[in-house]
Amino acid sequence: MNFSKDELERYSRQILLHGAEAQRQLKRSRVLVIGAGGIGSTLLPLLAASGVGAIEIFDGDQIEQTNLGRQLIFRERQVGENKAMVAAATLRDLNPHIEVIAHPRHLSHDDADRFRAANLVCEGSDSVATKLMVNTLALAEGRPAVIAALGNTQGHVMLVNGHTSACYACVFGNVDESDLPTCASDGVLTTFPAVVAATAAQITVGQLIGPRPDGQLWLFEKNNCRSISLKKRLECPINAI
Ligand SMILES: [Zn+2]
Repeated sequence: MNFSKDELERYSRQILLHGAEAQRQLKRSRVLVIGAGGIGSTLLPLLAASGVGAIEIFDGDQIEQTNLGRQLIFRERQVGENKAMVAAATLRDLNPHIEVIAHPRHLSHDDADRFRAANLVCEGSDSVATKLMVNTLALAEGRPAVIAALGNTQGHVMLVNGHTSACYACVFGNVDESDLPTCASDGVLTTFPAVVAATAAQITVGQLIGPRPDGQLWLFEKNNCRSISLKKRLECPINAI
């Protein structure tokens, strides 16, 4: 797999750092992104600009006026349009050398075949149920998942990678969704989702070009971020699958 002259110029600064083979590995990669909202609207352009060769976007929601204060890939004239469709068009414009597919609907268990076709799955929806579905499908299909969440001034990014280390259900399987802060009920600074999403993008690119053997969790609290390695929970509900 070779690069055109345009691609070589586009990716030149990155190739200086991680080499042409790592850039080829990104070009060979297919990544699913679940959610094109607060997380996805920063994560998606970073993956496209990094040169991830194929990106599939799932989102069944429409752009709302309240999104425009922090979801910077959307414009005022696009309010009411589907987020996945608009995000896909923006990414094709940003990088014409990659393949972008929009799925203008929410993810379901019937999408296991899309997981099988992908190298990695990124999750950035605002639903714990969806995060747990991605966790289950990714483990079942043997694909790593980068799962990101935020509300108010707290957030996290978790890399789920196989059955030997902690999965999302080990850590967040018993969380009651109604107890969690949300951007709609508790507010959020314009800058904070981008901090969490850029971390998720960096972990994703790192995993595609130099896979980590285990999962890991990055925790954000106000202006601090720390990463921790977690052991698999013996009573994890995924064990029963
Ligand atoms: Zn688990």
